[in-house]
Amino acid sequence: MSDALRHTAGGRQDSAGIGMTSQRTRDRLIDALEQMAQLDPRVLEIMRQIPRHLFMDEALASRAYENVSLPIGHGQTISHPLTVARMTSALLQGPPMRRVLEIGTGSGYQTAVLAALVPEVVSIERIAALAGRARRVLRDIGVRNVALVVGDGSRGLPDKGPYDGILVTAAPAILPPALAEQLADGGRLVAPVGDREQVLRRLTHTATGLTEERLGDANFVPLRRGRC
Ligand code: SAH
Repeated sequence: MSDALRHTAGGRQDSAGIGMTSQRTRDRLIDALEQMAQLDPRVLEIMRQIPRHLFMDEALASRAYENVSLPIGHGQTISHPLTVARMTSALLQGPPMRRVLEIGTGSGYQTAVLAALVPEVVSIERIAALAGRARRVLRDIGVRNVALVVGDGSRGLPDKGPYDGILVTAAPAILPPALAEQLADGGRLVAPVGDREQVLRRLTHTATGLTEERLGDANFVPLRRGRC
């Protein structure tokens, strides 16, 4: 992890944190996640290092290391830590990835986790204000391998594809076929899909076509059309 990640915080709080944002509090959360599910140890190690409290409003920072999703404004939420760990573990399982597309940057926390584990991340967010804030936090903690795009990601981002991985962090009622079409050979896509009841799905692009697995229930904000 970069020195910047350890030592800077955009001037607002120290990324090392104190009290409810301290490394001890962060470790306690990750230790709890370890007990809850079969998760990739590389993902958990990175989550120990990334200061989640910097990705949310200061007023909520004291709750950053509880295993809950929290509001980030504009009616959106930062994903539950267990959800971030599950989705990232599911995406990374298999041959190493070079380029990953994330749809729904939100706070940028999931983006930072991905950026620490794959060489190149492209992330698209439809709400310009959220994208702007995420861009600042990522820059302040020294993350440099993310291309952040403001726009509607519901059809993916074919210009920058194909991708070894696609992670969708907002739920479409039906998975747009254009997304799987942007997967490279062997690529994997993880997305919550559904209207009222959502299921986390993983599609894998194999030589004989797409395979699909269901990874359990999910609870995400809806994937919406258009940008704002
Ligand atoms: N991974 C994020 C989750 C944020 S919530 C985090 O942990 O912070 C999901 C995000 O998806 C929201 O910010 C929402 O604005 C965004 N979103 C919804 N529909 C979208 C679309 N069509 N294109 C891009 N982003 C979208």
